[in-house]
Amino acid sequence: MSTVGKAAAIFAIVIAIIGGYVWGRSDQQAGRVAPFTETAEAEKDEIDVYYPGAEELGKDEMRVVALGTGMPTSRPKQAAACWLVELGNGDKFLFDIGSGCHERLAAQKIPYDLIDKVFIGHLHVDHYGDLASFWLGGTTMNRLVPLRIWGPSGATPEYGTQAAIDNMKEMYVWDIGTRSGVIDFRGGELEVHEFPFDGINEVIFQENGVTIRSLPAIHGLDGAISFILDWNGLKFTYSSDTIPNKWWIEHTKNADISIHECFLPSVLLVTKQGFAPIEALQVGTQGHTSPEQFGKVMTMTEPRLAVGYHFFNDFDTQPEVMRRVRKTYQGPLALAVDYMVFNVTKDEIRVRMSAVDEEVWPSPPMKKKNPPDFENVIPISDFTKSGALAFPEIVQPIYDEINQIYGTDFEPAFK
Ligand SMILES: [Zn+2]
Ligand SMILES: [Zn+2]
Repeated sequence: MSTVGKAAAIFAIVIAIIGGYVWGRSDQQAGRVAPFTETAEAEKDEIDVYYPGAEELGKDEMRVVALGTGMPTSRPKQAAACWLVELGNGDKFLFDIGSGCHERLAAQKIPYDLIDKVFIGHLHVDHYGDLASFWLGGTTMNRLVPLRIWGPSGATPEYGTQAAIDNMKEMYVWDIGTRSGVIDFRGGELEVHEFPFDGINEVIFQENGVTIRSLPAIHGLDGAISFILDWNGLKFTYSSDTIPNKWWIEHTKNADISIHECFLPSVLLVTKQGFAPIEALQVGTQGHTSPEQFGKVMTMTEPRLAVGYHFFNDFDTQPEVMRRVRKTYQGPLALAVDYMVFNVTKDEIRVRMSAVDEEVWPSPPMKKKNPPDFENVIPISDFTKSGALAFPEIVQPIYDEINQIYGTDFEPAFK
């Protein structure tokens, strides 16, 4: 071998040794023991992804899933505000139900009957814009229990949650009419619990060892609130939207997981979102909580894990948001995106991303369905009926097929 060839061979060996060392080391840092076979032979505990519907919750464990972390304009990456809290006792709660979150909720593969409790922090569309979709869509997807809704009063009755839900029912009277006498509509019933927006740490829910309290928030109008959930020695706090306030500081100290809005920096509201500077300052610091204010709040309340949400979290915005939070807070922190999952126990808080099954179908009903009561069908006019093309040579065989398989004798309405 020539001198040049020998030098090249030695160089290659040195590079290989360094490379092997770096590879082994980075794996060691990740806490894995078998660096070269981790993918093929990973133990269950080492899998870093959450697969909805495939993992039992420990009886002392709380699981929090981010189903909407974005803004009023939803986008494929981030729906608007929605947080799912699941407890080891089997209870499940939704905190806010903002526009675009329903499909993320569906991806959790939970039967609709098990998600019957929704807590709304305030009546902005990015905090309850998917309520109607979840409510009425749920009735066609096997919800057979009433949907229960908790939300604040307003300065006057028409600004409160009860009025909002009454108006929603009016808005969807046509949709409800089409279901009448056609499906089992028990899941269409709404049970509204409006509570005073100015209650300070007042209990608004207490069932099955779970206590939920509300705090006044400062955002928009009177009628914005934040939530505290206590269960089994674990404390979850959720700001919905608010600027920093004394009630939050006083009552959310030492939470296990504290989710608080952390809005885009005002300068990015100007450059990325086209706000005028004065708008950006008002919205970004006087109507919402800026990253620096968020950090200060977390320093004053010292949660085990601080979670910031309510901004478009991208490769170019996150470093800037993080930099600003770190000016005022040095503790444990996650800046949320949709499908982030937090498993909370007394010993550990594990943060992962959820796998998403794009082709999810609704879960089967949990109760026996009642047959439709055709007496309640709302008739359509002779005019509309007169336009129907019955195509009996095509439709009758479809009826015959079903009747043969299921031993029935149904006949088409249009003949
Ligand atoms: Zn809001
Ligand atoms: Zn909001």
